[in-house]
Amino acid sequence: MAKVWFVGAGPGDPDLITVRGRALLARAGAVLYAGSLVSAEHLHHLREGCAVADSSSMTLEEMLAWLLDQASRHAEVVRLQTGDPGLYGALAEVAGPLRAAGIKVGVIPGVSSAMASAAAAVETLTLPETTQTVILTRVAGRTPMPPGEQLRDLARHHCTVCIFLSATLLETVASELTHAGWSASAPILVVHKASWPGEEQIIRTTVAHLAEACQERGLHGQTMIIASPALQATRPEQPQAMRSRLYDPTFSHGYRP
Ligand code: SAH
Repeated sequence: MAKVWFVGAGPGDPDLITVRGRALLARAGAVLYAGSLVSAEHLHHLREGCAVADSSSMTLEEMLAWLLDQASRHAEVVRLQTGDPGLYGALAEVAGPLRAAGIKVGVIPGVSSAMASAAAAVETLTLPETTQTVILTRVAGRTPMPPGEQLRDLARHHCTVCIFLSATLLETVASELTHAGWSASAPILVVHKASWPGEEQIIRTTVAHLAEACQERGLHGQTMIIASPALQATRPEQPQAMRSRLYDPTFSHGYRP
């Protein structure tokens, strides 16, 4: 029976796909890739004769029809998505009907742009006694937010907040953070095209200057906004105040008495 694999391509650099994802690409009979967001370099790793289609201009119905047709011809079909397939992708809409049609479905996780953005800027998303929580969210655009998930509600926790899909709504992001009690001078990290070779931009700004800092660079699309009290903790001049207990000489655990 055919299996359709939802493979996370990673944030941009084709080297950031998993080993398992690359191996699946190399043996799949057909690949449907999100051409607007996924590097075309992944296509260099396909086997000869592999059927390929770009989903960027397809409707859901067209994608399903293509995947169903290919699944009737090949044992393994790949749906290649940006970042991790479980975040802001159409996994439910596509996997559900495939399963209803009797096709097996598997997911290969990917490096999300939230992680790649923190990595690009050498930032940690958690820091002992500062924040131990990360919220992955967005603000409402054409997709509304479910009740209780407004940024002003979530950001009240003053933990790390990674904001996807919101580069055209920067004034809203700043005003929601302000409503949640973040100061105008609170640091904000913006990463555009994290990991894309030669295209990555890292912008350090504040709640007050977020919109203008991004607008003056003309940023839109593939832009991650990270608000966090842990930002800048890896700078060399930071005090050693927030050490992890795991590596504290006075803290014993299973691997160190
Ligand atoms: N599944 C993807 C997210 C898809 S939604 C993931 O796990 O990363 C698309 C949003 O992801 C964009 O609006 C942007 O906020 C973010 N994004 C995707 N690629 C990015 C990149 N290379 N750099 C920064 N943000 C990115």
